[in-house]
Parts: sequence; C-alpha cells; structure tokens
Amino acid sequence: MDLLIQNISKTYPNGVRALNNVSLTIPVGMFGLLGPNGAGKSSLMRTIATLQNPDEGSISFGELNVLAEKERLRTMLGYLPQEFGLYPNLAAETILDHFAVLKGITNSKERKASVEALLQQTNLYHVRKKSVGGYSGGMKQRLGIAIALLGNPKLIIVDEPTAGLDPTERNRFLNLLGEIGENIVVILSTHIVEDVRELCRNFAVIANGNVVFTGTPEEAITALQGKIWKKTVEKTALPEYHKNHRVIATRLIAGKPVIRVFAETEPESGFEPTETDLEDVYFYHVGASAAEEKEAV
Ligand code: ADP
Repeated sequence: MDLLIQNISKTYPNGVRALNNVSLTIPVGMFGLLGPNGAGKSSLMRTIATLQNPDEGSISFGELNVLAEKERLRTMLGYLPQEFGLYPNLAAETILDHFAVLKGITNSKERKASVEALLQQTNLYHVRKKSVGGYSGGMKQRLGIAIALLGNPKLIIVDEPTAGLDPTERNRFLNLLGEIGENIVVILSTHIVEDVRELCRNFAVIANGNVVFTGTPEEAITALQGKIWKKTVEKTALPEYHKNHRVIATRLIAGKPVIRVFAETEPESGFEPTETDLEDVYFYHVGASAAEEKEAV
C-alpha cells in the first residue's frame, strides 16, 4: 500500500512557504526524508499525520483519501513527533497502558498482551516499572516508538528521532525501526545522512520546501559516480576554490581542509577522483537548491 503525495504546498500566515508543490510516492519499507533544518520536513510530516492542512494538493494511502478521511487515517497511523512530553513520575508500563486505552484497546487482557509485547520489542521490559523521568534519551525514544506502534499501524512517521542520541542508542533505535519497516510504510525524517544510508530503501532530499531528489541510495550515488574530485588545500586558498569550482563539501583531515568538488571531468591538476558517498549526494542537492534560491532572489 503506497502513500502518494501530490502537489502539496503550504504557506504559513507569516509568509514562509514551507512546502512548494511537493510530490512523492512512498512504498512499503523505510523511507528517508532528508533535509537541513528548516527544509520543511516537519511541515510535511504534520500534514501527512493530518495535524495541519496544506493549502493545495492531495494525499492518498492505498484507497484512502487522507485529507478527506482524517479519522480513518489516524486509526492506521503511528506518529512520533520531534518533541513529546511524558509524565516523568509514571512508569513506562503505565504510560503505554494509558495510550493503549486511548487507541481503543478496551479489552484488558488484549491490552496487557500488546503492552507487554511492545515493551519486549523495544527492549524496555526490564525497566517497565521504573519512572520514565530517569530514562535516557534513547529509552524515551524507544518508548515513543512503542506508543506509536500501539494498535498495529500501517503507517509510521518518526520526526528526527535520532537527534541527540549517542551512537549506541542511535544504532539500537535504527535497528528497531528497520525491523518495523519490513512490512509497513515507515517515514523517517532526519538531517543525518547516515540514518538514511544504513536503513532506507528509498529516500528523498528536501530543501527550501522543494523535493530536490528522490530514489534509492544506490541510484543517488551512481548518478554522481566519477564526478566527485578531492584535493587537500591550504585554508587561505579556500575562497579561491569556492569561486572557481563547485565545492560541495570541505572536510578537515588531520587539521587540513580537503575539498570535494563536483565536476564532469578532472577540474585541474592536483585533484584526484574519489568514491562518491551519500553525503556528497546530500550536499550536491541541498547546495544546488540553496544556489537556485539565491539566483531567484
Ligand atoms: P524542518 O522540519 O525541515 O526543520 P519545518 O517544517 O519545521 O522544517 O519548517 C519549514 C519552514 O517553515 C521554516 O522556515 C520554519 O521556520 C517555518 N515554520 C514551521 N512551522 C511554522 C509555523 N507554525 N508558523 C510559521 N512558520 C513555520
């Protein structure tokens, strides 16, 4: 069951155009929505989650017209927003039980079974009786996912879930998402390229409210293969390189800037070809969008 987003636009009352004619087809599996802060990711997530209306466009999920049948979509949706509050004095088990009631799981036996299964799945069973005020960031996020998974949703939306997690917690969280994403649509919004590389079958890059790339990570890399060149340069020469070349990234290696340049053929002597990675793809597309924006002004 695909999620089909067609020509969605949104301008906020303050005049910010957060989404500009966004169209995406999102199949079953993990889908990464990658973009810098302010790109429009949350605006799009909230629109799909039926929490705000777009000015234009349509969204369908299988046969369902999402914007016309919000209540039905909500019964199929698990949404983990960027920020969510949990009562710090309550235990995870109690919180999950409350949310299960809200989701309409009224049979207490059934509720107990699903709460227990979700605590196991998110690896919180051993701390189920502890108050969540003492939980680490990763544990809170896993509880958030457990809440989102109540009632067997067909569509899961997680908004920047890995921001602020340490590498171990991040890995554990991503593995959990990966398991969930085998059978249903999972949209992962993130500004972290590795989140997408490790996990997403398909992804889109969004910048300034525009979808600037959509495809698989492999397709994205193949399209730029052989066109990324690198060179170690002096810091003082950086402005000159920016002027003469399409520099897509500068990485410091052992304290020295190594620039990565996009060019169809070797830009000038001293550059060497390098393997394209997903970060190149990201900066290539996000940078291109920023440049277009500048030209338009
Ligand atoms: P992201 O999630 O990618 O960081 P957002 O969707 O939060 O992006 O924001 C996109 C743009 O819309 C930003 O310029 C942001 O400041 C603006 N924006 C977001 N929400 C609102 C709102 N409720 N009112 C006005 N502007 C908003």
